[in-house]
Amino acid sequence: MEHPIPFGIARAGATLLSVRAYNQRILLLNLLRHQPVSRIRLARLCGLSTTAVTNMVAGLLARGVVREAGTDLVAARPGAGRPPQALQLVPDSRLVLGIHIGVRRARLALCDVNAQPLAGCEAPLVAHESAGQSLARIAAAASGLIEQEGQAGIGGRLLGVGVGASGLTDVETGINVFAPNLGWRNVALRDILREQLRLPVTVDNNVRCMALAESLYGAGRNVRSLAYVYGRMAVGAGLVVDGELYRGAGFGAGEIGHWTMVPRGGKRCRCGNHGCLETLISEPVLVERARQIDPYVVEQSEQPLQAVLAAARRGHAGLRAMLAEQAFYLGIALANLVNVVNPHLILLGGLLYEAFDLLQRDVETAMRRHAFGGLGAKVTLLPATFGEQAGEIGAAALALDHFFFRQPAV
Ligand SMILES: [Zn+2]
Repeated sequence: MEHPIPFGIARAGATLLSVRAYNQRILLLNLLRHQPVSRIRLARLCGLSTTAVTNMVAGLLARGVVREAGTDLVAARPGAGRPPQALQLVPDSRLVLGIHIGVRRARLALCDVNAQPLAGCEAPLVAHESAGQSLARIAAAASGLIEQEGQAGIGGRLLGVGVGASGLTDVETGINVFAPNLGWRNVALRDILREQLRLPVTVDNNVRCMALAESLYGAGRNVRSLAYVYGRMAVGAGLVVDGELYRGAGFGAGEIGHWTMVPRGGKRCRCGNHGCLETLISEPVLVERARQIDPYVVEQSEQPLQAVLAAARRGHAGLRAMLAEQAFYLGIALANLVNVVNPHLILLGGLLYEAFDLLQRDVETAMRRHAFGGLGAKVTLLPATFGEQAGEIGAAALALDHFFFRQPAV
C-alpha cells in the first residue's frame, strides 16, 4: 500500500512548485514568529540563502503581503553599522472566514493573517434539524458577514473559509463522517458550503483547529509538540507533533474522551462503551452530578455550569469535592496522554478553560504522579490562549494554514 506524504518536498522528485511552496511556507511561518525580522536573519532562521529569501520577499512585497517596517534590532551587531531593515506581515493584506460548528450554535469570524477577528456573528443550531437546514443557516450568516464587511472592500483579499466541524471529519474528502452530538452522518460539509458561498473551503475537526491555532498563534508558538484538550458537550484532544497537526490514519487521533477510565460499573457513554472519560467530565455530566449534590445551585440559574463553578469558588465543600474527583480523573487521562505523546505543553479549553483555576492543582498532581518516570513534571499545563473565541479562531487558523501559509501565490 502506498502512503502519500502530505508535503511534496518529502517525496523524491518534488516539483519546483512544491519546493517553492515549501520554502515560502517556512519563510512566512518564520516571519510570523519572529517579526519584525530582517532578510539576513530570516535566511538564517529558514536555512535558506539570502538570495533565495530576497527573491521570495520581493514577490511578497509586490503582492502586498509583507512590508518593510523599522529595523531589526536583534540582527544588529555593535560596530557593524546601521541595523538591517526589518520586515513584517501586513495583517489585513489577506482575510479568511473561520466557522466553528458547535453543538448549540455555529460561531463565525472574519480574521486577518494574524488570526485576529475583525468581525463575527453566530448562527443557532436547532436540535433534530437536518444538516442541510443547519448549513443553509450557517451559509446565510457567513454571506451576511462577508457582505457587511464587503462595504469596506474585502473582495480580493478573502482567501477562503475554514470550518471546524464537530466529530469525525475526513480532511481529504471534506466529509463530516460522524457528529454524534448533532446527529449528522456523512455530511459533505466542504462541498455544500463551497457551493453556497462560492469560496474555497477547507474542513477539519474543531478541536484539532483549536490546537492548530495555539501552535501558530498562541501559547504553542515556540513548542514542537502540544496537546489541546477540550471539554464541553464532548471531550477530545487536538495533537500537534513536531510542529504539524497529527490526524492519524482515519482522522481520529486525539479521541481521548473515549478513553476507558472506569471499565467496570462506569456510566454508559453515547459511544456505546462504559466508563469513558467523557462520562466523568463533560458539561452535562458535571451539571447533573452537581444537581445531585445541591439542586438549588443548579436550578437557580439559566447558566448552571457557571453557577456551579461560582459556588465552588465561594467554597461550597460538596461541589469542590466533586470537582476534585473530576480533576483527578482528568489528571489520570493526561498522564496517559503524556505517556503516549510526551508533549511539551498541554492546553485546557472549553469548560476546562472556564474551570481552570478550580481544576489545575488536582489535575497537575494526578498527572505528575501517574505519568511514567517523571515525564509529567516536564509538561506545562496552561489554560487555552483564545478562551471563548477558540472555536472561530481555530477555524480561521485552519483556513490560514491551508490558503495562506501553504499557497505559493497567496
Ligand atoms: Zn465513549
